Amino acid sequence: GLADGVGRPAWRLGVMGGTFDPIHHGHLVAASEVAARFDLDEVVFVPTGQPWQKAHKKVSPAEDRYLMTVIATASNPQFSVSRVDVDRPGDTYTVDTLRDLRRVRGPETQLYFITGADALSQILTWRGAEELFELAHFVGVSRPGVELDEKDIAHLPADKVTLIEIPALSISSTACRERTASGLPTWYLVPDGIVQYISKRGLYREGPGDKEIHG
Ligand code: ATP
Ligand code: MG
Repeated sequence: GLADGVGRPAWRLGVMGGTFDPIHHGHLVAASEVAARFDLDEVVFVPTGQPWQKAHKKVSPAEDRYLMTVIATASNPQFSVSRVDVDRPGDTYTVDTLRDLRRVRGPETQLYFITGADALSQILTWRGAEELFELAHFVGVSRPGVELDEKDIAHLPADKVTLIEIPALSISSTACRERTASGLPTWYLVPDGIVQYISKRGLYREGPGDKEIHG
């Protein structure tokens, strides 16, 4: 539909939320594929804030995850990165992400939240589940090792959720962290600039180490 009185169509914005610790080619393929299939104008990557619970202490600093996301997406004119979750104190809830993006981008923006099948299956346990479907359309992308079919989403509003098959990349951030810790390469699993950033910052090495960003 037309978004305003001067005939501009509504901006179709994909939203790719994640911890991105680190961002890898599975994330990038998912965003690229959904952008093409849903005719999106842009996909904004939104790294989560720093989890405040002790159980999640191993998550890399938000600024490192934010910068890696910027590095990995910089060359694609359709991709952008938002700090809304990094800058909001406390845990990240998708309902807050979508509310903030709607506020920043305007009420006419059409939001398409992109999520892997593993995350989508937990959607009803997310805070503000009822409101989520008023804020965005949800696109669940296939992920190797995760079984999800139409009956798993039968309880979700059919006009608000779409499952799509994307080229399978059996890559996870967990595997990238573990490979780095054991001295295995992450070349070609993550963009070159991310291999270099991980090395430069000493991320995912065993032991304590100072991960503060200086200067
Ligand atoms: P971790 O292993 O630390 O959980 P991850 O690889 O799952 O990391 P996240 O940052 O947790 O990455 O994922 C962000 C989003 O990207 C989630 O919706 C997740 O399902 C999706 N995703 C991650 N990897 C893939 C992949 N290889 N293919 C499709 N979707 C993916
Ligand atoms: Mg994950």
